[in-house]
Amino acid sequence: MSALIIDGNSVAQRLQTQIALEVEQFKQKQGYPPGLGVVLAGDNPAAAQYVRMKSRACNNVGMTSVTRLMTAASSQQEVESAVAELNANPSVHGILVQLPLPPGIDEEPVLRLVSLDKDVDGFHPINIGMLGMKGREPLFTPATPTGCMVLLNEAGAQLEGANAVVIGRSNIVGLPVALMLMKANATVTVCHSRTRNIPDIVRQADIVIAAIGRPNYVKGDWLKPGAIVIDVGTNKIDDPADPRGYRFIGDVEFESAVNVAGAISKVPGGVGPMTITMLLTNTLKAAWRIAGR
Ligand code: NAP
Repeated sequence: MSALIIDGNSVAQRLQTQIALEVEQFKQKQGYPPGLGVVLAGDNPAAAQYVRMKSRACNNVGMTSVTRLMTAASSQQEVESAVAELNANPSVHGILVQLPLPPGIDEEPVLRLVSLDKDVDGFHPINIGMLGMKGREPLFTPATPTGCMVLLNEAGAQLEGANAVVIGRSNIVGLPVALMLMKANATVTVCHSRTRNIPDIVRQADIVIAAIGRPNYVKGDWLKPGAIVIDVGTNKIDDPADPRGYRFIGDVEFESAVNVAGAISKVPGGVGPMTITMLLTNTLKAAWRIAGR
């Protein structure tokens, strides 16, 4: 049996068409567009590429975006000043600090400085704390984990009472997606580099989220037949057959997993496009919240 392929590109396109309509309504009512402010520090080409993609996506749906570019030699104070300036800028409704920040910059105080009202990446410790607490809701949830949840919904996953296994516990993916699954009443197991016997744990899972950063780590024979698999991994591998000389593959060995899973997301074209879409959703939400005060 071959799994349903969860196509993040088409889900993202559908959602972005809807966002563009809602942005138009916002502009007609408020007289100005929602705006995203980005802090990009350092010379990491992948980070710069992500920021370009996010800015382009903003423009495509009618939002504005401004980027505060800082060099790898920027000081802690300069990066924090850029955040403070975007906090005070009335045409910026959402702030994104592109991670990772250069070595020598302490990420935690920078993220804590982002105004809660503009925390469209959902990484402010208060928003993450609310996400983890029963009976509380964060203002914003992080984009990639939220994208995973939307894809699970698209695949028809029944989360309540399901056994969900998250592999990876990073602040940006593994931890928040585990908290979101718990809020959705799944029974969640989080695996990481010190976990013993991961294949046996994965075999119990109705839902698998792979966010490890290791190509083809999860094999098809680890999966429970019919499991729904979301592959967050984005691993660059050499490929002389590709005109670029490289391509991206996931953390799940797609060829073996597709014969066992009930549904599986693609890499590329799965979680990636959802991340940008969720950022746009959060920015529009932030703009409405700020306008409504
Ligand atoms: P990360 O910060 O490096 O975290 C990786 C996690 O995997 C850690 O919790 C680590 O455990 C765990 N891990 C590493 N090796 C392991 C092993 N052999 N067995 C079990 N667990 C292991 O990575 P990340 O930022 O979460 O990203 C994960 C992947 O998702 C990457 O490929 C990244 O490119 C991709 N990603 C994609 C998007 C998107 O929009 N599509 C967004 C973000 C990330 P420890 O905690 O014990 O070290």
